[in-house]
Amino acid sequence: MAVYIIGGGFAGCEAAWQLASRGIKVVLIDMKPERFSPAHVSSGLCELVCSNSFKSSDVNTASGLLKEEMRRIGSVVMKAADANKVPAGSALAVDRVLFSSYITGVLDDMPLVEIRRRVVSSVSEVISEPDTEALIIATGPLTDRALCDDITERLGTGALSFFDAAAPVVYKDSIDFGKAFFASRYGKGDSDYINCPMNREEYHAFYNELVGAQCAEVRDFDKGDVYEGCMPVEVMAGRGPDTLRYGPMKPVGIRNPSTGENYYAVVQLRRDDAADSMYNMVGFQTRLKFGEQKRVFGMIPGLENAEFARYGVMHKNTYIRSPGVLDATYEVSKTGFGDDVSVPVFFAGQITGVEGYIESASSGLVAGLNAYSKVSGAAGIIFPQSTQIGALAAYASGYGGPDFQPMGANFGIMIPDPAVSANAGKDKKKKKELISGGSLDILEHIKSDRSDIFESSIRQ
Ligand SMILES: Cc1cc2nc3c(=O)[nH]c(=O)nc-3n(C[C@H](O)[C@H](O)[C@H](O)COP(=O)(O)OP(=O)(O)OC[C@H]3O[C@@H](n4cnc5c(N)ncnc54)[C@H](O)[C@@H]3O)c2cc1C
Repeated sequence: MAVYIIGGGFAGCEAAWQLASRGIKVVLIDMKPERFSPAHVSSGLCELVCSNSFKSSDVNTASGLLKEEMRRIGSVVMKAADANKVPAGSALAVDRVLFSSYITGVLDDMPLVEIRRRVVSSVSEVISEPDTEALIIATGPLTDRALCDDITERLGTGALSFFDAAAPVVYKDSIDFGKAFFASRYGKGDSDYINCPMNREEYHAFYNELVGAQCAEVRDFDKGDVYEGCMPVEVMAGRGPDTLRYGPMKPVGIRNPSTGENYYAVVQLRRDDAADSMYNMVGFQTRLKFGEQKRVFGMIPGLENAEFARYGVMHKNTYIRSPGVLDATYEVSKTGFGDDVSVPVFFAGQITGVEGYIESASSGLVAGLNAYSKVSGAAGIIFPQSTQIGALAAYASGYGGPDFQPMGANFGIMIPDPAVSANAGKDKKKKKELISGGSLDILEHIKSDRSDIFESSIRQ
């Protein structure tokens, strides 16, 4: 018997590892390299389709807390991230190729994981396999069309969608370091970022060209549907001449280390690989035509002759109406997923309405643990809303408003112990520290209470 997982991305790989390391046979199916989504390019599993950053490492931020929670619970994605990180100041960024190879290698080497490479066009193709004892659907925001249609028809709720864009990556040796320089904001930590500075005239000339530049056609695209957390730079610029100076081109705290000069606007680039040859333009996700990216971004001082390792692109992301359909273990709780389905079915990853690489992996972790519970006869495990991992699951399964939108890690969705507010008073920094500390304490209790799951047969 085996748990079948469709999709070998962040969620699918994490779920596969959680199951196989506890002694459960897993069949992990991914369509690459037979077919690639519009954003995937490599045949490796757990591919980063855009930024190489997993955001903040600071445990007193929501995203840093989620990462630490996952380390404590034993996440393979976090293990891979920590083993393949590249310098990125207070963020955790990775070499995307080494990261993906690490996870592909780990899963390849596990005798209980069978990796099949093929396109799945319908749920019935998988549940009709005679050894299926549970199914996890983790096909991501770019789920291949036929399967996506099958899923939404089965759920009977229609799919939701939004548009997400990726930022360009440029080769370091094509950057003009006569103008660009390494520095960190406020001189904090190591100077890991490349900064391309602009004076007032340069900024306004750049801004005028950016707002007038030609965009690539993206089917069904409507500017109202962009995800606020990953807004194309040209859409942000369209909101007003100064918007970028308060966003990705924020100049505050950045000084030229040689001259002490500060600037009207600054574009930052973050290292993308361990070899230190490629840099990602931070916050410059875009759907400009490729020629326009070269022309307009070439107006940025230091990038006049930049060679692009990858241009920015935009894609339609799809997700299901999870509230009322999934429970907080990410299992389909709604009846009527299909008369042919007699095994437990879970969804995991961005398709559930969580947003981000690590958030997607976190739902794979929860779904994987709960699929393990189901097939091994143990009680299920729901993490409380006082933890970030539990808050994301509660949001995806229980959001009660009319407009279900993808959600990344944040403190707003958590319900901390009431003592936190009482002890922190008006001190916001202290409140975050108490929330994070409280969450990690609770996880330690859960781990010792549920030794049947956390200390069973985990093979490190
Ligand atoms: C263009 C774009 C940019 C993004 N940028 C960022 C970013 O900068 N930072 C961030 O945190 N998040 C970003 N995201 C969002 C999200 O975090 C990632 O998409 C993340 O990879 C989601 O993880 P997942 O496991 O749900 O899906 P994925 O990692 O996409 O994995 C899904 C897997 O399923 C496979 N698959 C799909 N359909 C089928 C099928 N029918 N049969 C078999 N296999 C199938 C795919 O080949 C893929 O390997 C971006 C998303 C997109 C689309």
